[in-house]
This record gives sequence, C-alpha cells and structure tokens, in this order.
Amino acid sequence: MAKKPRTYEGGCLCGAIRYTVTAEPEFPHICSCTMCRRWSGAPTTAWVEFPLANFRWTGPGGEPRYFRSSKKSQRGNCPKCGSAICVVDDGYDNISLVMGSLDRPNLIVPDVQHSYKSFRPKWWHPEVGNAKAG
Ligand SMILES: [Zn+2]
Ligand SMILES: [Zn+2]
Repeated sequence: MAKKPRTYEGGCLCGAIRYTVTAEPEFPHICSCTMCRRWSGAPTTAWVEFPLANFRWTGPGGEPRYFRSSKKSQRGNCPKCGSAICVVDDGYDNISLVMGSLDRPNLIVPDVQHSYKSFRPKWWHPEVGNAKAG
C-alpha cells in the first residue's frame, strides 16, 4: 500500500503568495543556468516539482505574476515583494517550485543532479545529495 503523501507549504517573503501541495516531490535538483541565476539572484537555484493537479495557491495575493522567460515557460514571482516562486512550462503537468520558498526547507533534499553546473560562478561549490531529509 502506498504511503500517504505529506503536505508541503510555502510562499513569498511578504506572505501575499502562499501555496499548499499534497503529493510526492519529484526531481528535486539544483540548477546554475544563467536564467535561474538572473531570475533568482542566487548563484544556484534549488528546484522541486509537484503535480499541478495536487497544487493550490492559498495566499491573499492569489497567483504569482508571470514572466515569459522562454518560448515554452513562465517564471512566477510575487507581484508585491518580488520573491521568486515557480516555473510553469506550457503543456506540462508539473509545477516547479523554488525550494527556498518552502516553509520547511529540510523536508526535501535535492538529488545529485546539478543542471548547468559549469555555468556556476567558479567560487561557488554547492554539494548536494549527501544529506538526509528531516
Ligand atoms: Zn510577496
Ligand atoms: Zn536553471
């Protein structure tokens, strides 16, 4: 019998954008591509995906404001405080959340996957995949 999935909650800095999702996290990984870096302001961004079907916006601000960052994907930020929240790809069943937006950032640990690792600043050496969730 499958284990009942946990509920994950998170949101932006000012609290206008909030979300809740009850599902198994998918593909937690980090990315150092130029788009993630400029968009988030961080040298590397940690991402986790969830099925859109299980995902809800719950804050007073409703949905993030979206910026079309490429032909098939949009990046969502809080329109009030600017926090980076998510990426939604056209026609894709998952939403990608910035792991920094989670209320409990230790519950999900990124996998060893480091996308665009060579794009990271050379002074930056993130290590992932060795920690235990908790
Ligand atoms: Zn905000
Ligand atoms: Zn990226």
